[in-house]
Order: sequence, then C-alpha cells, then structure tokens
Amino acid sequence: MVGLCRSAGVKPVHAETLLAHVFRHHTHDIRTIPDLPQALYGWLEQHTKTLEIKLITQQTASDGTCKMLLAMPDGKEVETVLIPGKNRLTQCISTQIGCAMNCSFCLTGTAGLTRNLSAAEMVAQIIITMDHHDERASNLVLMGMGEPMHNYEEVARFVRIVTDMKGMAFSPRRVTVSTAGHVPGIQRMIADRLPCNLALSLNATNDETRNRIMPINKRWPIAEVLYWTGEFARITHKRILVEYVMLAGINDTDMDAKRLIQVLEGMPCTINLLPFNTYPGSLYLRPESARISAFRRILAEAGKVVVIRESRGRDISAACGQLYTSAKHNQQKNRTKRLTQKTTNCSDYLWQQSNPD
Ligand code: SF4
Repeated sequence: MVGLCRSAGVKPVHAETLLAHVFRHHTHDIRTIPDLPQALYGWLEQHTKTLEIKLITQQTASDGTCKMLLAMPDGKEVETVLIPGKNRLTQCISTQIGCAMNCSFCLTGTAGLTRNLSAAEMVAQIIITMDHHDERASNLVLMGMGEPMHNYEEVARFVRIVTDMKGMAFSPRRVTVSTAGHVPGIQRMIADRLPCNLALSLNATNDETRNRIMPINKRWPIAEVLYWTGEFARITHKRILVEYVMLAGINDTDMDAKRLIQVLEGMPCTINLLPFNTYPGSLYLRPESARISAFRRILAEAGKVVVIRESRGRDISAACGQLYTSAKHNQQKNRTKRLTQKTTNCSDYLWQQSNPD
C-alpha cells in the first residue's frame, strides 16, 4: 500500500487508511473511504480494480459448518469452508483451482490443476465470507483445494497480508499452511520466516505406501520431508500439525501406528487422525471405529499428542473438492443451466482440524 501511495504521488501515511478499509472493514467502493486525497481516489480508480468474486452456492450443515462455492473473476470455481468450533471459527482457504498432486484419496486431485489463485483471490475468499456471514474467522487454514507450496509466491504474499497488524491482523499463531510434502516450499518457509504454522499431510509411514497414495512422495520421500519439517519446528520453535488420513487396510494397522511413532521421534507435533470420509467412486474405505481407537491408543501410550478429528458437516459433505467437482460435472452436462443443485464439500479430511493454539 505504501508503494501504491508513492505511485499515486501522495504521502505514504495514507497506506494505513487503505489497509484498514480494504482488509479490515472490507470496503468495496474506494470513494466511501474517508479522508484520502482527491488525487489518490482518482489514481486508484484508474489503476486498480475490484475483484468480482461471486458466491454460487453455499450449504450449512447441522453442526454449523458452511461450505461455499465461489466463482473467481474468470468464472473458475473454488471452495472455501467455515468451520465453527469451541471458541473459534476456522476458515479453510483454497490456494489453487484444482490440484496437480493427484493424491489417490482426494477428489480435488482427480480434477487436476486448472490454475493458481492469486493472493488477492485468497484474501477475497475471506472478504466474501465476511460479507455473507456476520462473523470473521478467527483461524485460517490453507488446506482447501491445491498444494500451497506449489503456489508459494502467492501463498507467502497472502500470509503476509493477513498477518499484517495494520490490515487483517490475524495472529501468525492462528494461520496454518499445509503441505503434502513439497520440500522446496518448506525450505522457503524457513528461509523467509513466514509468519504461520506448518501442517504436514503425512498419511503413511513407509515410502511404499506413501508412493502409492501420494505421488509427491516419489519426488520427496518421507525421510526428506520429515527432516525439513523437523527443521521448521527446530528453527521456528513451533509445533507441527501432522495430518494422518486413515484408510482401511492401507495405513491403519498396529504396525503403522508403531512406525508412525518411530518416524516422528523427536518432532514436537500434534497428530490429527482423520478417518477417511468416503465419496461416490472413492477407492478407499473408512476404518472401523475399533481400529481407529486402537491406532490412537498406541500413539497415546507412546506419549504422542493425538486427536481423532471426526468429519464436520457430514450431513452435507462427502469429500475433498466434491462441491467443485460436482459443479464442474453439472456444467459439462448442461452449460446453459445455472447451478442450482445442492452438492457438497471441500477438503473434508483436511479442513476438519484446526491449528493448534
Ligand atoms: S490432498 Fe491436497 S495435495 Fe493431495 S490432491 Fe488433494 S488438495 Fe492436492
């Protein structure tokens, strides 16, 4: 904003007013921002534009979880989700339209990558949600559609914007970026001292299984990912959030639990066990409740901080990216018809957890 003021030929002091109105009061009309020099109003109208983001559909579950499908200015669609919790309201932000990582348990992955979202389009997810809901989220998790590290530049810009104390002023402790294990991205987060937490979507305890369910593991295997995740924890003094989607018969045995203890040895972390939420056509099943409990018990008895995160909004949800993929399917079926069908969900197994405070 300071650079923008300089370009407009006005004093940088007006940057604070702009920051407050654009990011805190979500003012859409520049002319309604008070006390700016006339030259700045004119310059802004000429050189900037308001992103036209539309809410296409939203669904609210009985537990209050609200899933929204948004259209970006080019008509491409993304999901964002509001998840109420005890003393918090978490918003799950998408960082890409689709995803190139192709994790085999994830519906978003099946749609492939369409394009990256800009930092502005990520901020817009928050602003449009504030426009349609009375409250602002207290916590942000970048666990929606996309691999955040695959769009690092824009994600880093977004994190800096939302944690700017003169703008949206989210506490860095309440912003979490999740990765499927993109090592260069983790390295950049460390080097840049990005003001946020790190979550790792691990989901397997040996390379053979992880290669099968998360192709990114062939590029950056478990040992390398965990080394750099551990470095992030060591250098930033932050706890890592380890996400573990439980897939029946794939990664849910006692042996897996014991290996998980071994591979996380020495890492300050909280483990979120996320029983898989099936969707039509999914390759995997949710483990039995007794299996999930047994798995958790092994971790807890070894002193691990472990939580089973049951899926939120299950009465409206099925799986990651389903709202998006259903909408895409509908559009292909009938491009002229407006989307009215009530469909479901976002990154179900990812967004259901909140970042550790
Ligand atoms: S789980 Fe995450 S990284 Fe993997 S395909 Fe889905 S959105 Fe992409």
